[in-house]
Amino acid sequence: MSDNPAGLVEDSSVYRTLLESTKAIPWKINWRTMRFEYIGPQIEALLGWPQDSWLTVDDWATRMHPEDRERVVNFCVSQSEAGVDHEADYRALTERGEYVWLRDVVHVLRDDNGDVEALIGFMFDISERKKTEDELVALQKKLEEYSYKDGLTGVANRRMFDTVMNENWNDAIRHQSSLSVILLDIDNFKAYNDLNGHLQGDECLKRIATLLENGAQRPRDFVARFGGEEFVIILPETDTPAAISVAERCRQLLLEEQLPQGDSPHSKQVTMSMGIGTVIPSRHDRIADFLDLVDQRLYKAKRDGRNRIVFD
Ligand code: GH3
Ligand code: MG
Ligand code: MG
Repeated sequence: MSDNPAGLVEDSSVYRTLLESTKAIPWKINWRTMRFEYIGPQIEALLGWPQDSWLTVDDWATRMHPEDRERVVNFCVSQSEAGVDHEADYRALTERGEYVWLRDVVHVLRDDNGDVEALIGFMFDISERKKTEDELVALQKKLEEYSYKDGLTGVANRRMFDTVMNENWNDAIRHQSSLSVILLDIDNFKAYNDLNGHLQGDECLKRIATLLENGAQRPRDFVARFGGEEFVIILPETDTPAAISVAERCRQLLLEEQLPQGDSPHSKQVTMSMGIGTVIPSRHDRIADFLDLVDQRLYKAKRDGRNRIVFD
């Protein structure tokens, strides 16, 4: 050990070795000439452009993703003019035409008069970190999606139904318009699962969800999985006859699918029962009471023999 650690300063080759063996890429730009005075040789390994091809700030700016260029160049110039240390993330172009995410950490050097003299900094390869960030963003999006979509069928889930139902209810109060709801339940679905297995049961639910979305055709019509093998359709500005025709269309679409209930060729087809309610709500009405009424009609349809629509 030297008893004069400051002695290192005298030996610039030590610094050079240190700088050129780090993963971060050091550089220096002369602020007056806007030319590189130095860039670490590691740049070639990372981006492919030879060390001696980095001459001016233009080489830096042009080797940047066009979508990042204006933002980053403007930011770095304004920070440098103000004499403020800063950092910027951007995509650097490689010689092969690909992009690598870099973080440039910049220190502003001033002369004795306090004027900006040079910029020195390090470029860090942050592509792995960006990849992780992108994955987190994608995951976050998925989670948001899961919070309003039913994972199996892809239609809205119960929570989303509650929100949309509320909105439509208030809308119907405001405009005194007819709001219809169809509640439907697959007939003998327990037996379907027992005969075909739970996985095929899941497939059946997916097909029915798709078919309901095809059956409810107006832009504001809304399909959700209410739970288990029950679905619900909200039909804004729709009176009872129009709601019946939507329900009948869905029932027909299911019959056209000809999904066998069991595995025998003589098996009956999968069917569903439906309850319909229509309301022009007032401020005193409650959504829960209305849905109860629709539910009672659905169970009347079950009691009356299934595969039918009850609306009064
Ligand atoms: P009903 O005609 O009276 O409606 O008879 P059902 O057999 O359809 O009614 P029940 O309530 O007895 O059974 C509902 C069945 O739906 C039982 C349950 O296993 C099945 N089920 C609920 N959710 C799912 C699911 O996500 N996937 C599958 N495969 N089956 C489900
Ligand atoms: Mg059922
Ligand atoms: Mg049920």
